[in-house]
Amino acid sequence: MEQELNALLRDLFGKTLETAQSAEVYDALMQLTLQKMGDRPRLSGDKKLYYVSAEFLIGKLLSCNLISLGLFEEAKATLARHGLDLASIEEEEREPSLGNGGLGRLAACFLDSIAALGLCGDGAGLCYHDGLFRQRFEANKQQELPDAWRGGQSWLRRTDVHFPVRLGEKTVLSTMYDIDIPGANGGRNTLHLFDLDTVDEGIIRDGIAFDKTDIEHNLTLFLYPDDSDGDGRLLRVYQQYFMVSCTAQLILHELTERSFSPKSLHEHAVVQINDTHPTMIIPELIRLLTQQYGLTMDEAVAEVERTCAYTNHTILAEALEKWPMRFLKQAAAPVVPIIGELDRRVRARTDDPAVQIIDEHDVVHMAHIDIHFGFSVNGVAALHTEILKKTELKPFYDLYPAKFNNKTNGITLRRWLLHCNQPLTALLRETIGPGFERDFTGLEALLAYREDAQVLDRLLSIKRENKEAFAAAIASLQGVAIDPESIYDVQVKRLHEYKRQQMNALYAIGKILDIRAGRVPARPITMIFGAKAAPAYTIAKDIIHLILCLSQIAREDPAVRPHLNIVMLENYNVTLAEKVIPACDVSEQISLASKEASGTGNMKFMANGAVTLGTLDGANVEIRDLVGEENIAVFGRHSDEVIRLYAQNAYDPKALMKNPAVARLVDFIVSDEMLAAGDRESLTRLHHEITTKDYFMALLDLEDYTRTKDALFARYENRRAWAQMMLVNIAKSGYFSSDRTIAQYNEEIWHL
Ligand SMILES: *Cc1c(COP(=O)(O)O)cnc(C)c1O
Repeated sequence: MEQELNALLRDLFGKTLETAQSAEVYDALMQLTLQKMGDRPRLSGDKKLYYVSAEFLIGKLLSCNLISLGLFEEAKATLARHGLDLASIEEEEREPSLGNGGLGRLAACFLDSIAALGLCGDGAGLCYHDGLFRQRFEANKQQELPDAWRGGQSWLRRTDVHFPVRLGEKTVLSTMYDIDIPGANGGRNTLHLFDLDTVDEGIIRDGIAFDKTDIEHNLTLFLYPDDSDGDGRLLRVYQQYFMVSCTAQLILHELTERSFSPKSLHEHAVVQINDTHPTMIIPELIRLLTQQYGLTMDEAVAEVERTCAYTNHTILAEALEKWPMRFLKQAAAPVVPIIGELDRRVRARTDDPAVQIIDEHDVVHMAHIDIHFGFSVNGVAALHTEILKKTELKPFYDLYPAKFNNKTNGITLRRWLLHCNQPLTALLRETIGPGFERDFTGLEALLAYREDAQVLDRLLSIKRENKEAFAAAIASLQGVAIDPESIYDVQVKRLHEYKRQQMNALYAIGKILDIRAGRVPARPITMIFGAKAAPAYTIAKDIIHLILCLSQIAREDPAVRPHLNIVMLENYNVTLAEKVIPACDVSEQISLASKEASGTGNMKFMANGAVTLGTLDGANVEIRDLVGEENIAVFGRHSDEVIRLYAQNAYDPKALMKNPAVARLVDFIVSDEMLAAGDRESLTRLHHEITTKDYFMALLDLEDYTRTKDALFARYENRRAWAQMMLVNIAKSGYFSSDRTIAQYNEEIWHL
């Protein structure tokens, strides 16, 4: 490798490993990795999977690609011989900004596992230029900036594959970019990202504002641009139709290239639809099969019905996409007649208004297309799938019980353990041997060390080492000092009221008041938050403002400062996740029961030896079942009670505000002290929201949460017992390997 790297450095920059700058070494390593991947044959098979998703939150790729190629240790050693550190070289890489949060990160973990299992399956999505915004804090508020991640070198390879797509009145030509995904058996898969050459960053004005009607220039500028107005929503439909039209053309092109008949589509291709964003691939495939491949409508519908499978990611009503027919007529005109035909076919099957595709207001329900015309509907955790069957999608379950199945989410432990936590990986290799890296359920062998004082001490010292590394990273990134002796209590995820960062902030208020009253914690606490709020989601931005103001108040009060540090990470993304997760002691998974479909952050923390503080929601339920009650801290109302409260409209925060202990915390939001630190309008609006609506019932669980959290912090002082909890969590995390999830998708849905 040394010779290859030196040759590349000579060709590219006229330098060697001794003389090159970090950025040059990075470029050479990326080129070398690209070559090694490009030399590999594509994974092949009689049947091919297409994983279609509007988001792929892939993270930096250098280290993980090297791990998948089996070159990581060699690269590290080669660089080390020249006084270079792979981790600092990787700092040169820009993180691709192609996803919002969990859903996009799941798609990325899945691509990794599909390749690792040697399955023939490609991803398909959009190549956003500025992706999701980059977050900056100013005056305790979130600001959004474009994230121009494609500048300079990147992993994207422009191809000469182009497809014509109707865009409004015009037909445009797409361009396909590819990113290689190295996999098993020396093979590779590909992530295909579609773009339009006419898109122009020059139309972006201050922040992330741009002309939303200028589709030819804005189509792939941003991921999910502001959809608070009609033009933003319409642009989203344009994006979706462009994505699925390109993907459908690619699928049929590859099918016929492989000399298969279009009438055998379902035997040679399977399409996994990740949430409803790619739903229009169903009518688009039918359209192409009938108009360009000579199938009758009956034949095309039958073929597509056996090819497409749908994953549901949420029960939040506002996230189940519906588009007014006039949007589709403008942005996706070619599929409108097909959607009409599908609607007629559903009406012939059933007259239940709850399951129709086009409702009485001429609004199209995207999920309904997927469920009627896909062969599989899956939820993403056991509880979530049960709720879909029993409540949210019950009328569909009654119609098609055999279509419904569960696939509990997973994470690629190659990134979320081997790469991000190398000290722990080294300990695991020493104790249980390297076999767990091929089959992560092998991590269970660690349970044999539960009473081994040496291993328990090592676990604690590795955590300490990671906490110091994170403290150093955050000192240099944000100029914030944190104490590695303190408990690191971490809630990092997108900002949403159902995830209840506001409940955690109310806990922080309680702690500030306790400390001022002389009730100081046994050990300092560092409360770490990280979250981006959707640009048009006002209350979410108010919650960020609240947290930043509390952070300032705790920092500026000499009585509070030694005991409580509140840190809000700026621009939370995969790169930061990889730094904070290995350093975490307490993993906050506190969504209102029934609302978090699965969560995957919870799994990453567990694998890195954090103890979960959580509600019985999403995959937390499965974590509890695996580690046992004594190795997790559970609190809060159960999902059936929450569902009942919603059904009976029986929750009222005003009743809870009569409890003075609760009111004291909530009213602190609009105290003089807070209003001096922050913005009156924002804090008052948030206070009003919590005291009058509190739609996600933060006040309902607040007392139980506070009690459970304080008790968990107290348990931290028994270091040996805590280390045993860490050990059990790590040992049981193999179940959440996305290799397991993907093996189940393949056995039960894809049949590759
Ligand atoms: C894993 C991950 C998420 C999802 O976290 P949840 O806690 O499951 O919501 C979001 N963002 C990033 C950057 C992640 O790595």
